[in-house]
Amino acid sequence: MSEMIYLDNNATTRVDPGVLEVMLPYLSEQYGNPSSVYRFGSRVRRAVDAARGHVADLLGCDAGEIIFTSCGTESNNAALDSALRRNPDHRHVVTTTVEHSAILKPLEARERRGLRVTRVGVDGHGRPALDAFREAMDDETALATAMMANNETGVLLPARELGAIAHDAGVPFHTDAVQAVGKVPIRLRDEPIDFLSLSGHKLHAPKGVGVLFVNRYSRFQSFLTGGGQENGRRGGTENVASIIGLGEAARLARENLEENVRIMTALRDAFERSVLASVPGSRVHGAESERLPNTTNILFPGIEAEGMLVLLDQHGVCASSGSACTTGSLGPSHVLTAMGVGDEDARSSLRFSFSRFNTPDEAARAADIVARCADKLRSIRQPASSPVVVG
Ligand code: PLP
Repeated sequence: MSEMIYLDNNATTRVDPGVLEVMLPYLSEQYGNPSSVYRFGSRVRRAVDAARGHVADLLGCDAGEIIFTSCGTESNNAALDSALRRNPDHRHVVTTTVEHSAILKPLEARERRGLRVTRVGVDGHGRPALDAFREAMDDETALATAMMANNETGVLLPARELGAIAHDAGVPFHTDAVQAVGKVPIRLRDEPIDFLSLSGHKLHAPKGVGVLFVNRYSRFQSFLTGGGQENGRRGGTENVASIIGLGEAARLARENLEENVRIMTALRDAFERSVLASVPGSRVHGAESERLPNTTNILFPGIEAEGMLVLLDQHGVCASSGSACTTGSLGPSHVLTAMGVGDEDARSSLRFSFSRFNTPDEAARAADIVARCADKLRSIRQPASSPVVVG
């Protein structure tokens, strides 16, 4: 098999070697419980607190506003659950049609139990309708939730405007920033955001650790009670090594944000330019919107994305159609459909997502492979011209 070119960094990222290095002692000799009073435990507590500080610095908030969780999905569920339990009379949530399944699925489950959900649509560029978002708020709305960046297209949603709209209506605002953190500058202090979710494994930290930011002025009720960890807001002995890894990943992301953005933008743009120039009819979804620096979602008209993925895999290129969680299901991407893309075109679209670990050579080779695979699939698809039957 050819050397792998990993262009699926919105699905997950490699653990930064520097992150792994700071984690290792906490998987071996530093195994103390951070809640223990003796020094062997309190040393670990200090390391967890330092990690909390690094995450807070990356998000521009206070360390006390950071709750460590197990993943982005848990953070999303916790924000939703808290909002609904704090306001039992408020049985309505406002969201968008392009959210990740980690918001859409928990909402659907509650909808079956009587929750009212308003899903605000997006335009052809993936941008939500702000007026419709405003009009969706009512006296029963417990939470408004909208992602900061879309995982499939990379389109940025205006979290500040959406949060301000929610707050004007007296509604708390949550944003799923799983794809945005580390790729766009975020300063939560003074933003109209009550809750924010992030995930370690999208940020060169390991899988199985996430964060829920809870604004110090916002009310929060945990659904995971137990030993009083995380200031009583999320019970369970801490996933120490992963938390420390996430802290280091956050420190690196903050320190190198501008440089990383420059690297990812250059790789993505070069790849995009090359593919668009060599594959007739190809185009980028959401190209006119502000996008994440690392993501491109390209339509290859007439080519089945699933077939293309298999062929790309044979050439060592890892990409994705839709989100990893829905790959394997035959339905067209709900994100592209929400943008008005027809089913056939949605099924002919692929996402490529870069990281700072990719190289210009990989971007160039991948673009070349994509062009050759597209060519091959088109030539297979074209039936030999059949004889015309007259009369
Ligand atoms: N939200 C978004 C936008 C995502 O892209 C993902 C993962 O793909 C998640 C939430 C879920 O994060 P996790 O895998 O940490 O549960």
